[in-house]
Amino acid sequence: MSNQVLFVGAGYANLSVLKNWRKHTPGDTEWTLISPSRYKYFPEMMGPYMEGRYSLEDIRVDLADFCQRNGGRFLEEKVTAVDQNRKTVLTESGKSVSFDLISVGMGLRQETGSIPGVREHALFLNPHEEIPMTTASMQHTEYPVVAGGGAFGVELALSLQAWRQANRKKTPVTLVTSGPLLPEEKKEVRENVRDLLDARGLLVYENIPVERMDGDVIYAGSKVLPYGQMLWLDGAEPPLIFDYANLPVDDKGFLLLSSTLQAVGHPHVFGTGAATVLQEEPDVSKGSMTASQEAQVLEENLNRMLRGKTKLKTFKPPKKEAMILNLGSGTGLYRRGSRAAINKHAWKEKKKLDKNIMKEYSS
Ligand SMILES: Cc1cc2nc3c(=O)[nH]c(=O)nc-3n(C[C@H](O)[C@H](O)[C@H](O)COP(=O)(O)OP(=O)(O)OC[C@H]3O[C@@H](n4cnc5c(N)ncnc54)[C@H](O)[C@@H]3O)c2cc1C
Repeated sequence: MSNQVLFVGAGYANLSVLKNWRKHTPGDTEWTLISPSRYKYFPEMMGPYMEGRYSLEDIRVDLADFCQRNGGRFLEEKVTAVDQNRKTVLTESGKSVSFDLISVGMGLRQETGSIPGVREHALFLNPHEEIPMTTASMQHTEYPVVAGGGAFGVELALSLQAWRQANRKKTPVTLVTSGPLLPEEKKEVRENVRDLLDARGLLVYENIPVERMDGDVIYAGSKVLPYGQMLWLDGAEPPLIFDYANLPVDDKGFLLLSSTLQAVGHPHVFGTGAATVLQEEPDVSKGSMTASQEAQVLEENLNRMLRGKTKLKTFKPPKKEAMILNLGSGTGLYRRGSRAAINKHAWKEKKKLDKNIMKEYSS
């Protein structure tokens, strides 16, 4: 009987491995990709999408088509449980799918926390299928508010403001954040970004936590902010499914991996992407820029396991991860380690990267 390899979630590394699957993998294996939506969205391309520079087809891949082209099976389902003893997963609609090896690349889920009214009234990016509706709502509403002053909040607030100015919307975007803007950046970068936000006409409320919201207004510190729609970008968490399956997790619920990208103590379970953490290097964040390195190790190790080998390749995350944010109007923020720059070149680099990713997965 063929070996069954199950890929849960269309995370980068999973897709990248599947793209090469036929070239390297033993003939007696079959694979299935399970994901809750027919489309895989790339949230890191959402800035230019919100700004109107990219179309929907520029930021998503049709997974049914992708799987057919690359010789596998696609199941449009949400996985709700993993039974490692029986080597099966259960899906929301009650299907049971068995595996010999499993690779989870599920990304993060939205945690709306305990702030009253947020769950009922805010818009979210997770699940990613919400992206088209959320974008349209934020573009067309009278008083758009973005909550979250991290990199993605800043990126989306500036991109949205660029779209609204180009489309003659009179009211500006409000950005509200419980802490400082871009807390992980150096003071100089933070100040430059703050100047840019002011110059582009956004209303910025820094160090003001949202305390509650109702259908009309947001209460943040002593402020009462009117809103038409609010995009909530705080509180992305790992899925609960790892913990429920008795897989090893850290204190926040991230799947704990050995350097071979296997769940610690569970050699048939591989993991990649934002919902996982390396046991030996817990402080290394695993964003989309490390995904291609992770994918190479994942591909090699799945192949070695399928060939019965025991010595596996190890993943060494880069010490300095690069990040490029779209700041709207053809400007980008590039950061690698302690080096950072805001300019047009960064934006062009981002565009090139995005195009390469889409070319890789769409053809
Ligand atoms: C606006 C914005 C900009 C960003 N920019 C950057 C950037 O510049 N650089 C960077 O490194 N990161 C960036 N990020 C973060 C980045 O998007 C995530 O880190 C990245 O998408 C995580 O990738 P992943 O491979 O872990 O999984 P994802 O790309 O999140 O994919 C997870 C997949 O798993 C599926 N899935 C989820 N739950 C289930 C389930 N129960 N069963 C089956 N399938 C499931 C999902 O549908 C999805 O297909 C940005 C995020 C946002 C919101």
